[in-house]
Amino acid sequence: MHSSETLQIVGRTHPGKIRPHNEDCIGEDPQLGIVVVADGMGGHLAGEVASRLAVDTVLQNLKQCLKKTAPDHRTGDTVALDRSLAVRRAIINANMAIQQAGRDHAGHAGMGTTLVMALFNHHRVILAHVGDSRIYRFREDRLEQMTTDHTLIQEMVDRGFYSHQEARVSVNRNLVTRALGIDSTVAVDIRDEMVLPGDIYLLCSDGLNDMLEDAFIEDVLRQHPSDLGQAADLLVQKANEHGGRDNISVVLAKPALPLTRRMPWYRRVIKFWR
Ligand code: CA
Repeated sequence: MHSSETLQIVGRTHPGKIRPHNEDCIGEDPQLGIVVVADGMGGHLAGEVASRLAVDTVLQNLKQCLKKTAPDHRTGDTVALDRSLAVRRAIINANMAIQQAGRDHAGHAGMGTTLVMALFNHHRVILAHVGDSRIYRFREDRLEQMTTDHTLIQEMVDRGFYSHQEARVSVNRNLVTRALGIDSTVAVDIRDEMVLPGDIYLLCSDGLNDMLEDAFIEDVLRQHPSDLGQAADLLVQKANEHGGRDNISVVLAKPALPLTRRMPWYRRVIKFWR
């Protein structure tokens, strides 16, 4: 389990310069190593309700589920598999909670939300997403997108009809093909990754990556790798300066792993033969 001393988390959310309300929602549980970003849709109030419900349901579900799991001597793979299943279950429960809320209140019918989340545990992290919010990883000065948008335009890019640059400026770039609350079932993309010392994970709503190129985000993290608050403030400020056409949310998470990392096997071999 993670404690707040081993996982540094900074989150910012801002309505942007055009929209009167913020339908994004961010959440965290530093003790359990969880960070979440949700981008609601369905109009004022409904969008806010959906994103808040998604974040709260996921955090509560995982809190109950992970606290029940007693420490044991299973292998890291088994623990990671259990955690992946818990993440999937929590997101499916969030989907059901939003659907139920839509049925209970006429004004909330048809609301939905995207969701991205990360669950850190020592040297591993589980990443999950539905929709077009994103997770990036900053490692050794390079930014890498870890999620593939669930959008119509991404499907066109995958099929070779659009280039990444054409997709960035397409008017249809925000049509999502998956979201929570829309259907009775939801497919969740989940991956399990090794964490290395110095890694920074960035979760964001499209209000950030629509306004700022990946290269720009990479530059900001390169300049402020140890001051996450400054990096997050600067990203929100720049997204606003570049138009701020949508709500902007960004969460930065940096696990502080012990520096006594085992030497890679090839270094050990080289050392042995010297
Ligand atoms: Ca948005």
